[in-house]
Amino acid sequence: MRKLAAGNWKMNGTGASLSEVVALLSDHPAPACDMLLCPPATLIARMADLAKGSALKVGGQDCHANSSGAHTGDLSAAMLADAGASHVILGHSERRTDHKETDAEVLAKAQAAQVAGLVAIVCLGETEAQRDAGETLDVIGRQLVGSVPEQSTAENLVLAYEPVWAIGTGRTPTLAEIAEVHAFLRARLVARIGTQADGVRLLYGGSVKPSNAAEIFAVPHVDGALVGGASLKAADFGAIVAAL
Ligand code: PGA
Repeated sequence: MRKLAAGNWKMNGTGASLSEVVALLSDHPAPACDMLLCPPATLIARMADLAKGSALKVGGQDCHANSSGAHTGDLSAAMLADAGASHVILGHSERRTDHKETDAEVLAKAQAAQVAGLVAIVCLGETEAQRDAGETLDVIGRQLVGSVPEQSTAENLVLAYEPVWAIGTGRTPTLAEIAEVHAFLRARLVARIGTQADGVRLLYGGSVKPSNAAEIFAVPHVDGALVGGASLKAADFGAIVAAL
């Protein structure tokens, strides 16, 4: 399976930041993995123009579950696709926390994204308190069943395991802990969507950087990474791409 290096710019970046994309494309014209950057929605169209004909794909960071209507400030999956996006991140822990998104809402958004022809990158992960209480697999299993559409295929679904306590903290689980969760995710996904699950890419996210990327990517069932802070600079993201 071809691995995926996905970058989540979160609420960072203006037009000036596109110079990083130019640098990334010139440094990695033919990477050995798939490359995706998810900038703020204001930059999707311009980044997609830059990425045309290259190995880079562009994605959104959220979408509404409805296709149109009176939802001030929201964007539909079809609008993201129209702007040039091929993917959308859904259920990121920052949205689950800041916007109180539930599994049911993430499921509805993922279905809408897939209907619009986008790949849904569904995020899940435990908090530190849940890990300390030994609840990690329960929490993740519940999130998977609650937020992954049953009709998903290997082409329109990516799963990202992102322990909440590892995001932006510089801390990561041990390789054994990542291995345990990813093996569990693969098995649960088979139960949820059938044999298609074998081809779904399972990303690890949370403090991935050039110095730890190679060892994390060597863990079984880790098919790439969802990278936050280290995706903002071409040099860092490029080093992670090269490690895949
Ligand atoms: P980080 O963020 O790489 O900055 O820890 C990861 C994410 O939130 O996707």
